[in-house]
Amino acid sequence: MTTLLLDGGPVAPDAPVSRTGGVPLGPAAMLWPECRACAGPLQFLAQIVLDAGVLAPFMCANRPGECEQWSPSAGGNLALLLPAEGLVPVPAPRGAAPEVLGLGAVRAAVPAAALPSVSLPSVAASEGRAVLGSLGGEPDWLQYDETPDCPACARPMGFAAGLAEGPDPVTAMNFGSGQAYAHVCGGCGRAALLWQC
Ligand SMILES: [Zn+2]
Ligand SMILES: [Zn+2]
Repeated sequence: MTTLLLDGGPVAPDAPVSRTGGVPLGPAAMLWPECRACAGPLQFLAQIVLDAGVLAPFMCANRPGECEQWSPSAGGNLALLLPAEGLVPVPAPRGAAPEVLGLGAVRAAVPAAALPSVSLPSVAASEGRAVLGSLGGEPDWLQYDETPDCPACARPMGFAAGLAEGPDPVTAMNFGSGQAYAHVCGGCGRAALLWQC
């Protein structure tokens, strides 16, 4: 079953809950991650609280479309699987534009209805609230099965969460009108993000 994540409204930028936008939480002394393609700072997209830890996906917003932002391995995005305890706000790098570092609004992502399967781009709202993503279940591939292999143990990673672009065109994530897929390897503490449209 897939559990939808619905817009729970505004929440504090550093709230330790599932949310889109705000500031990333990480271990003390964590540095803001950089795009491996353009070397600029990545944009923090969301944090999703999972059983395996806290999923934190980032994506490059410095050069839209030019850093292979869709790829699970090219370096234009990054997904971290962090331990749930001891996380603190990660300081922003000096001189970076706020719109490059984060989305324009913070929204709580609240688990709601569980459905047999769901195609995120086709469900804009449920229970009167915008759909921000999904937890668990099977990925609804918009193109082909692109399950990534864990970079540490080389085994196929498990699907953990989907991300929708969000309801607000000003603050939307850019997945080419598609959706993002986050996979994790809990044993290795690794995560991967890719998107299809
Ligand atoms: Zn980049
Ligand atoms: Zn692994």
